[in-house]
Amino acid sequence: RLSVRNIRKSFGTHEVLRGISLEARDGDVISLLGASGSGKSTFLRCINLLEIADHGEISVDGELIQMVERGGRNVPANRRQVDRIRSELGMVFQSFNLWSHMTILENIIEGPVHVLKRPRAECIAEAEALLEKVGIAEKRHAYPAHLSGGQQQRAAIARSLAMKPKVMLFDEPTSALDPELVGEVLRVMRALAEEGMTMLVVTHEMSFARNVSNRVIFMKSGEIDSDGSPEELFGQGGSPSFRQFIGNFG
Ligand code: ATP
Ligand code: MG
Repeated sequence: RLSVRNIRKSFGTHEVLRGISLEARDGDVISLLGASGSGKSTFLRCINLLEIADHGEISVDGELIQMVERGGRNVPANRRQVDRIRSELGMVFQSFNLWSHMTILENIIEGPVHVLKRPRAECIAEAEALLEKVGIAEKRHAYPAHLSGGQQQRAAIARSLAMKPKVMLFDEPTSALDPELVGEVLRVMRALAEEGMTMLVVTHEMSFARNVSNRVIFMKSGEIDSDGSPEELFGQGGSPSFRQFIGNFG
């Protein structure tokens, strides 16, 4: 479903990703852990082409993203392909990134109506079902500023899902939330995982990593340090660096 081979990315002389490879199969829920600065966000941003890796290959659903070298740098060869691949990858950020001048419903139908050019009435019906699913149906006509952080993040998840992505990428989706609001977002993510969505989740929520994901990847200084099932890594299989890392979470 998602295949990444030997991705490298530098900012200036700082090599942030030093050869990362990952194969995610359908329905995999992968927690990506690592210290601040280890390259987790950059990795996700390279996958959905917000950053262009200097080296390496990415394919989504068997389709290789075409790159060409121009002026000594890697650039996507085909703008249309980039747009299509991006619409196949849902991304949810730490900051909820809803459009503040649109109601929640308008936020959700924006992509399906204007990017996918689907009929408005159909998109509204689907959006209402998604709002139901994330538990904020009653907020459909509210503006983002009138929602709690947890509700905004659930709306952001619904907005991503409205594009019917093949893979969902989450970058610390609960890190900006007050502790009492974290659970409601994690519940939505767990439900999504149980439905079989393929997910790559950067998180510091060890309970999610242990109990929801089927695979845990620990990044260290731009490389994959440990990769395995939660049972393996949280059992005896994690490296000393991984043990030290999780030790910091008590
Ligand atoms: P955190 O847990 O703090 O979110 P992270 O693992 O997501 O950390 P990244 O955001 O991927 O880490 O950053 C990895 C390194 O790359 C950091 O040293 C960061 O300063 C650097 N970096 C990231 N984006 C850029 C950029 N656009 N320009 C220059 N340096 C960058
Ligand atoms: Mg980050």
